[in-house]
Amino acid sequence: HDDLTDLPNRNLIQDRIAQAIAHSHRTGRLLALLYLDLDRFKVVNDGYGHLFGDAVLKATGHRLVESVRDSDTVARLGGDEFLILLADLNHPADADVVARKIVESLDSPIVVQGRKIHLSGSIGVSVFPFDGEAADTLIDNADMAMYRAKELGRNTYQFFTREMSQEIQRRVDLEIKLRGAASAGQLQLAYQPKVSLKDGCISGCEALLRWHHPELGVVSPGQFIPIAEDSGLIVPIGDWVLRTACMQARAWMDAGLPPLCVAVNISVRQFLQQDVVAWVARTLQETGLPPAWLELELTESLIAEDIEQVTATTNQLKSMGVKLSIDDFGTGYSSLSYLKRFRVDTLKIDQSFVRNMLSDIEDETIVLAVISLAHNLKFRVIAEGVETEQHCRFLQLNGCDEIQGYYFSKPVTAAELEAMLRD
Ligand code: C2E
Ligand code: CA
Ligand code: CA
Ligand code: CA
Repeated sequence: HDDLTDLPNRNLIQDRIAQAIAHSHRTGRLLALLYLDLDRFKVVNDGYGHLFGDAVLKATGHRLVESVRDSDTVARLGGDEFLILLADLNHPADADVVARKIVESLDSPIVVQGRKIHLSGSIGVSVFPFDGEAADTLIDNADMAMYRAKELGRNTYQFFTREMSQEIQRRVDLEIKLRGAASAGQLQLAYQPKVSLKDGCISGCEALLRWHHPELGVVSPGQFIPIAEDSGLIVPIGDWVLRTACMQARAWMDAGLPPLCVAVNISVRQFLQQDVVAWVARTLQETGLPPAWLELELTESLIAEDIEQVTATTNQLKSMGVKLSIDDFGTGYSSLSYLKRFRVDTLKIDQSFVRNMLSDIEDETIVLAVISLAHNLKFRVIAEGVETEQHCRFLQLNGCDEIQGYYFSKPVTAAELEAMLRD
């Protein structure tokens, strides 16, 4: 069809693939499916208006048609996703050539309504008969490979592999187990002290989530947090974390220990998916923790989101009296001008810089630059991943306010932290 902007019926595409499969069965030749998703383009809410979006998609469709043979099929799956069916191939490498050609062809700008638009796309490839015998399996597997291409940094293509489906299966299994983790009492918080370099006292702690599964053992947050984020489970789990951490901090207060600010990690997804201000206010009220004893660790990637909304929310949290810090500072793409608008209290230098700052001159430069940047903007600065006495001395000498890391203590249980506070 000329007008690729018409949403085609998925059944129609599947029928077309099924015919091609039947044909391949007769000829013994291969067939490849290319699943293309544009990287930055969103049809809904594209900021240009729908008409313009449709024109871009139509132009993209035409460019795709130019990149393939007449006997191939280009279809639009909906949104900014396209499916390209390559028939009668002799070798999977033939699909490789076409995929590369498409990625390259999207690289040169298209002109729509007098505007130059830069596009890029990620492509997943599945090949009949190796990656599936049926149309829907081939589509799903090409889709899976497309996600891998996105993960690899976009603007590229990937062939489907068995490992990809195993990886997806592993994630699905973990997600199912994680769903019941909080109610089964498998979640716990560990607390890692933060130490002031001025007087050597414990100035606060960070709550870090731990998951003990009866069969899997201890699953590290690096494994399950991304799954919780993708599946939306981070919202109920994050609620459990905040409530538990606030209750613990309140219990320490009631036990007459010196006041201790407890820091909780908040993912971007949690920040955007709910009314953060109301949630935090409610939790503080219900647990009886004064706002000043709670700190929220946010990441720089929030800056890539709707900055107006994010600054409005952080301002409200600040007015409530909650402390804010930017975690993993230096690893994101924060523009310094946004930093001024974000009313945070503390920058947390990422451990990847701290680890090598004594041997790598660039890391040293970054650490020193963040310390002076923070102080010029009247923020406090903390270094994480401090593992040795040398690290500690270097940071102290250069005016860093606090440290956190194995040098002082690993994350410990609430009871162990309490014992440290009593010493
Ligand atoms: P993060 O927020 O950057 O936390 C610091 C990580 O560094 C923790 O890993 C901590 O155990 C580890 N660490 C602390 N000191 C040292 C050190 O001296 N050397 C080294 N090599 N590592 C050190 P953990 O507990 O495995 O957590 C990993 C990540 O998972 C956290 O990184 C955070 O992004 C995420 N996470 C953990 N708990 C939560 C949570 O409750 N909610 C959310 N949204 N994310 C969480
Ligand atoms: Ca897209
Ligand atoms: Ca953190
Ligand atoms: Ca960090």
